[in-house]
Amino acid sequence: MSDETKIQWCDSTVNPVMGCGGCPLWPTPAALRKAPAAELAQHGVPAQEAQRLLDGALDGLTATDVYQRRRAIAAKLERQAGPGARNGRRMRGALQACIERPFSCYAGKLHCNKGLNGEKPDKKISKGYAPTFERVTCFPGRMAEMARKADLAGKPRPDRRVTRKGKSRTVPGKPWLDGMPRLVFVSDMGDALSRGVGFGFLKDEIIGAVSSQEGARHIWLWVTKRPARMAEFARWLREEHGIPWPDNLVAMTSVIDQRMARAVDDLRKVPARLRGLSVEPLLERVQIDLTGIGWAIVGGESGPHGRPFDLAWPRDLRDECRQRGIACFVKQLGRRPVENGQALKLRDPHGGDWSEWPGDLRVREMPGAFRTLARKTAAIIR
Ligand code: SF4
Repeated sequence: MSDETKIQWCDSTVNPVMGCGGCPLWPTPAALRKAPAAELAQHGVPAQEAQRLLDGALDGLTATDVYQRRRAIAAKLERQAGPGARNGRRMRGALQACIERPFSCYAGKLHCNKGLNGEKPDKKISKGYAPTFERVTCFPGRMAEMARKADLAGKPRPDRRVTRKGKSRTVPGKPWLDGMPRLVFVSDMGDALSRGVGFGFLKDEIIGAVSSQEGARHIWLWVTKRPARMAEFARWLREEHGIPWPDNLVAMTSVIDQRMARAVDDLRKVPARLRGLSVEPLLERVQIDLTGIGWAIVGGESGPHGRPFDLAWPRDLRDECRQRGIACFVKQLGRRPVENGQALKLRDPHGGDWSEWPGDLRVREMPGAFRTLARKTAAIIR
């Protein structure tokens, strides 16, 4: 839990559930075979032999195991490919890179450092983390703790000086949040709607806190890559318990490519007062049906293997939002922004400092409804 996050579009984050069932940003070992198989082929290893080597190297491993052991796996593949493979040593580096590249989920990588490690059996789990990213773990009480945090409605979010370990630095403010209630991002370290997380837990933990007198002062932004399960949960809440979806709980899903844009249809089935999209990291030009959507966040991919982000893509989305009266928030341009076919050099490795951006992309809009939803919910509860 963090009551002050660097994430530009919210004030705080909370994770009632740590870990996740995965998505294309944290692929299964089976999905990870294609690139190493192609790399082995490049070095003259026949396809059948490559398949046999990959079976031996990856079978029985979770994605966490593969990420933690990527160096050893690349070395083993290189060794076993034997003298028949061309450019063996270069092959090792290339194999390691292509094993590592698809792992772009920040939450997953952090769990690899903080959780159990098959290569270091004595290592302890850091407090507050799931044992491994795949072992989705519930942490009851975190939502209620966040609900008790101070009300921020009417308050500015200016730059601040902070001193840590004797070093002082400026934390940039978030003027676009000025006056808003506290905006809490629910589930940035996993996906609370992963299979295995019971609806009973989600009702008590999330709906209970959001609808409490204290929680009703804030706006909660619940992001999932499983909007179909969120819609199923909403139906269960209403039909089994007669509980409507709280007005101050914004239903959100992520879209990273055209294939995922279909999930927006499922999000529309969640009977929320406001629905939002996190179109990040955007990996290709997408066409999204924005019907029923009140907010769209867009951004490029950060991290050492961040993929190109053509600035024409956020411009398309921004224009579509403008036409439909939807608030648009450009979060970051990522590691490799591209303008008119040319790489755009930025100092900030995440491309998150908007003073470096083309002026027309400095768009950080918040839905006006955020100002009223929490107040209304609080008034109803009182
Ligand atoms: S936490 Fe989100 S980005 Fe990471 S693997 Fe799960 S769904 Fe994907």
